[in-house]
Amino acid sequence: MAGGLEDQVPSGLLLTTVEGLFGWMRQASFWPATFGLACCAIEMMTYGAPRYDSGRWGQEVFRASPRQADLMIVAGRVSQKMAPVLRQIYDQMPNPKYVLAMGVCASTGGMFNNYAIVQGVDHVVPVDMYVPGCPPRPEMLIDGMFKLRKKVQGAPIGINEERFYAEQESRQLVA
Ligand code: SF4
Repeated sequence: MAGGLEDQVPSGLLLTTVEGLFGWMRQASFWPATFGLACCAIEMMTYGAPRYDSGRWGQEVFRASPRQADLMIVAGRVSQKMAPVLRQIYDQMPNPKYVLAMGVCASTGGMFNNYAIVQGVDHVVPVDMYVPGCPPRPEMLIDGMFKLRKKVQGAPIGINEERFYAEQESRQLVA
């Protein structure tokens, strides 16, 4: 048969369809790394418990190993001493990976405006979604997760240059 499948369908259609399928699979099966750092972690645990049941959206499998996780939910303030550890765990997660900053402390340092606390986890790792509140209720985390799902659904497969440079920049800040 002359020509491959790609000769018979409109240009770009196959790649677009595969991207859509990959995005759909990724957004429907996050495996979050456990990274509870402070009070916000209690609400994160509630989000995974039966009352809110994050398993309804395929997000209940919290992983203790970063090698098996594709989402880091940073729940709580990040101390300067914890920052390199957080970065190491992020680096150990396989691509594609995402980060959600849960609560004002993780997002900006919150009320802990002092030398001991990192003033926003985006100084350490690139952040894909911020969830405000002190602490955010599980409903707010669910809302943030759904917004992240939308973002992931539309993400291209392959190397994301923007993220690559954001990773390099935040690594320099930790070093
Ligand atoms: Fe605790 Fe509030 Fe900070 Fe969350 S945002 S870690 S609840 S002080």
